Amino acid sequence: MIRRGRAFVQLPGPTNIPERVLRAMSRPATDFAAPDFVALARSAIDDLRRVFATEGEVFAFVSLGHGVWEAALANLVAPGEAVLVAEAGRFARGWRIVAEAVGAEVVRVEGDLRRAVDPSAVAEALAADRERRIRAVLVVHIETSTGIVNDIPAIRRAIDEVGHPALLLVDAVASLAVCELPMDRWGVDLALAASQKGLMMPPGLGFVAVGPRAAARAETGGAPRRYWDWRIRRGPDSYEWFYGTPPVQAMYGLREALDMLFEEGLERVHARHRRLAAAVRAAVARWSEAGTVAFHALEPGERCDAVTALRLPPEARADEIRAFCRDRLSVAFGGGLPPFEGRMIRIGHLGDLNEPMILGALAALELAFVRFGVPHAPGGVEAAIASLVADRELSPGVPDAS
Ligand SMILES: *Cc1c(COP(=O)(O)O)cnc(C)c1O
Repeated sequence: MIRRGRAFVQLPGPTNIPERVLRAMSRPATDFAAPDFVALARSAIDDLRRVFATEGEVFAFVSLGHGVWEAALANLVAPGEAVLVAEAGRFARGWRIVAEAVGAEVVRVEGDLRRAVDPSAVAEALAADRERRIRAVLVVHIETSTGIVNDIPAIRRAIDEVGHPALLLVDAVASLAVCELPMDRWGVDLALAASQKGLMMPPGLGFVAVGPRAAARAETGGAPRRYWDWRIRRGPDSYEWFYGTPPVQAMYGLREALDMLFEEGLERVHARHRRLAAAVRAAVARWSEAGTVAFHALEPGERCDAVTALRLPPEARADEIRAFCRDRLSVAFGGGLPPFEGRMIRIGHLGDLNEPMILGALAALELAFVRFGVPHAPGGVEAAIASLVADRELSPGVPDAS
């Protein structure tokens, strides 16, 4: 079948890559020791500190998010040392599996998969650790599998109230450049991210931002390591920063992506994500009035700005709907991750997106609901339009509709 027009990527990663970033990356091989490249790569890595809102150090790895999960642990936790994992979704589970694989003893705090991590459960588990063996608390900021945002400041307070010395490590893969994560202000000791989500890049780069307590621990602690060791990733040569050949083209892309984020302004980037997420939620709220389609996240205040997870009953054939949307309408949505296979549609709304793209994607999904006979209250797209128009950004000076 010949398909015309643009294909939409409404996945919660990878996200759209702007033309500007693609063009910036389209470059011949260059000498990575050339002063121009060295300066550009250094500036890009250092400028990531603005996005993490930290005075700490940022290290870049040729890696996926899965790799920097291991980077964080390798630098901070020795085999046999304990970590606490707040496990409320597929990605927290993934990080826990890495922790177990590298020999950490894992204390799991398991929550309801439809709710955010309960900070008091974290406090309880830390209080029970009388010998203070737990080295780090691992939390996923936005749990992409459920569309739920965890309350990082509340988890920080939970650690502090118990007076526990554990480091707070945050997976910001789905939240960096999407919503606020002021690492230093929130007392996060380490945050990690990857290139293919809010940073609007192809997959392949992983980042860790390291605060002073985590940096100090890594100097003398951590596991035997080499590739992941951030202590060897300092110095004047770009070859050292990557412990091997620098990903030259990707660094040009990263520089361009950061320029785009800074031109827009990070606060406006966050506001745009809030606005588009609110529009998606307005549509889902309308559809769900018929009682078949429902928000996965039970608590409205815990629904994140990166992805919205819809639950469908098995007879609604969520995966067939997604295949139809992708193959016939050129709109790709995410599906249910274990244990929700075949029962979820996840609408990604992060990265390089604007209002008509979101409306188009919602219209395509509503079309598919009609086509597949999924009971839903019609008018999701109208509800999204109303949500957008009520936003001050789109209607400056117009009194709030609500
Ligand atoms: C996408 C994602 C990951 C995994 O990233 P990869 O680059 O695919 O390894 C980890 N954590 C969260 C929260 C994610 O959204």
